[in-house]
Amino acid sequence: MALKRPVFKPYIQQQILALPPTLEELIPQGHPVRVVNEVINRLNIEPLLEAYNIRGSSSYHPQMLLKVVVYGYVTNNYSSRKLAAACKESIYLMWLSAMSYPDHNTINRFRGVRLKNALRSVFEDVVKLLAEEGLLSIEEVNTDGTKIEANANKYTFVWKKSIATNKEKMARQLTEIWTYAQQVAAEEDKMPEPPDFTSIDSEKIKATVDQLNEKLAGKEDIDKKIKNKLKYVTKNYPVNIAKYEQQEAILEGRNSYSKTDKDATFMRMKEDHMKNGQLKPGYNVQISTSNQFIVNYTIHSNPTDTNTLSTHLTQHEASFGKAPEVLIADAGYGSEENYTLLEQKGTIAFVKYGMFDKEQNENYNSKHPFAANKLFYNQEKDCYICPMGQQMNYIGTSIKRTSTGFEQTVRRYQAGNCANCPMNGACHKSKANRIIEINENLNRLKQKAHERLNSEEGIERRKKRCFDVEPVFGNIKQNHGFKRFMLRGKEKVEIEWGLVAIAQNLRKKAA
Ligand code: SF4
Repeated sequence: MALKRPVFKPYIQQQILALPPTLEELIPQGHPVRVVNEVINRLNIEPLLEAYNIRGSSSYHPQMLLKVVVYGYVTNNYSSRKLAAACKESIYLMWLSAMSYPDHNTINRFRGVRLKNALRSVFEDVVKLLAEEGLLSIEEVNTDGTKIEANANKYTFVWKKSIATNKEKMARQLTEIWTYAQQVAAEEDKMPEPPDFTSIDSEKIKATVDQLNEKLAGKEDIDKKIKNKLKYVTKNYPVNIAKYEQQEAILEGRNSYSKTDKDATFMRMKEDHMKNGQLKPGYNVQISTSNQFIVNYTIHSNPTDTNTLSTHLTQHEASFGKAPEVLIADAGYGSEENYTLLEQKGTIAFVKYGMFDKEQNENYNSKHPFAANKLFYNQEKDCYICPMGQQMNYIGTSIKRTSTGFEQTVRRYQAGNCANCPMNGACHKSKANRIIEINENLNRLKQKAHERLNSEEGIERRKKRCFDVEPVFGNIKQNHGFKRFMLRGKEKVEIEWGLVAIAQNLRKKAA
């Protein structure tokens, strides 16, 4: 009886085809690589050509390199080395590159240098093209932010606070040596009082160290400890203060930076599986989306979303000629400054303020019966009526300035006599008569936001925001593994996020 054997499909590696296929025939219809190819073919690449010299040897075509890099970001291939290798291995990249094999230096230089002045316009062209196809709206956007880790060492930090502490130590040491010098100075050569060290700089340190050496260096009967301190101060302080001044210039008002990427600021990242925030160098990435397409993006060193909206709107105007007609955002953006800005630009804002969600809860309202916003205002007498029926009279106006320089006008009202009130303690904690601060403009803006957010349209838009902008971050970070930038410095980080945004939009179009 013949032995039964398994049946295999033919496997002939050396098979020759009568008509060899083109690479394009091997790419399935509707494959994302076709979307990348088709969209980039339709873009104006003039701004990209400006990054090339007329003289010199020939270069790889920027349109080809743009397709290769964007397809890399579409398929989670962010490394220039891996992308260069894939150009020789992946049929999709071989088709895009027409079987040219740019090396990783070429890809890296194209991404970090050539794209520098052109990527924003490439991104804008993609957005306009998608808007023409009716896939997204440039006028109605959802805005949110996330923190992305920088390509920087988390142990090479510089903190503004530690510079201040070190400067205070220097001031203390100098005062101590100065006071000693005063004590030992000869009657006829009396030393003046120590200089004011509340702020110190290179010049002040140099002048003080020179003066101290002049008074003490030649003397033999000085305290040994002071002698050593003066020696240390003379050697190190001029160098240290120069270093601190340089670091303060890099900080530019930030609280920290990383020495390996000086534009990255230490921020609390929400990514630990135990839900512990971790302090890492990173960037605050702001995006506006429509139908899960990214319409606008900006990169910030400031970790708080509130202070980013102005720059973000300015970028939207620069890209599309006008501010969005409708903007939906969460409570992180609900400040007086942002509401005012949106009002000035004529943007209809569906933006929550800090207490909006709590105010919706009746339990919360019943627990805070003494809150200033619950008090009755008597317009005629310009006074508030406290829970015990006392008049709280106007006592003055103060102007407060936010960290961005925005001025807030606050009117203050005070109760006449809280001393014998049975509510004292529950109503307020101060020992004096209760004072309330009323920001009329903010109250007006909050009232407007409250009405808008609770309208039928507002409820609909709030619901939609959650599954418009938030899943875009989730998709990029979780599904496509983009949790850390590959490039360093804000300029290059902007290019990289631009590529991430183009990739997100093309993936979405292909879906
Ligand atoms: S403590 Fe003062 S402000 Fe509060 S209810 Fe009594 S009188 Fe009015």
